[in-house]
Amino acid sequence: MATMQSGIRSALLGSGVVLATLGCGEPAMGRGPTGRDRAQAAPAARNLIATSFCSCRKCCGPNARGITSTGKRARRGTIAVDPRIFPYGTRFVIVGYGKGIAEDTGGAMRRDGRRGIAHIDLWLPTHREALRFGRQKMTYRIVNGIVRVEK
Ligand SMILES: [Zn+2]
Repeated sequence: MATMQSGIRSALLGSGVVLATLGCGEPAMGRGPTGRDRAQAAPAARNLIATSFCSCRKCCGPNARGITSTGKRARRGTIAVDPRIFPYGTRFVIVGYGKGIAEDTGGAMRRDGRRGIAHIDLWLPTHREALRFGRQKMTYRIVNGIVRVEK
């Protein structure tokens, strides 16, 4: 296993972008499920900070109206991001939360983004739940265009 991985890694030097579509640089034809499995296992996990917010004034300021920066009503699945890291419309699957979509932003996300830290803020219906969620260190990888986030 270790030999195979290091072989893949050295084969990828200088061509990481091609990896996502070609699956480790091997010919995609005639490989069947094996080729697909390798393509999905290929992206490296990156670190991410996950926090949570609700629509209240403590979370969203004195003018809180429950409307996101893209004009949507905040609801379960609303995720605030630094859009330079995760463009609006990016889809997420978050273990322990469920599906979400990038459709809001916030100062904390953009500040962390400027420091190279991926930070997402997940909407929850009550302030108590948002507090309980806290600040969690997680990892993410992008598989088939969807950001998969897990512990
Ligand atoms: Zn709140």
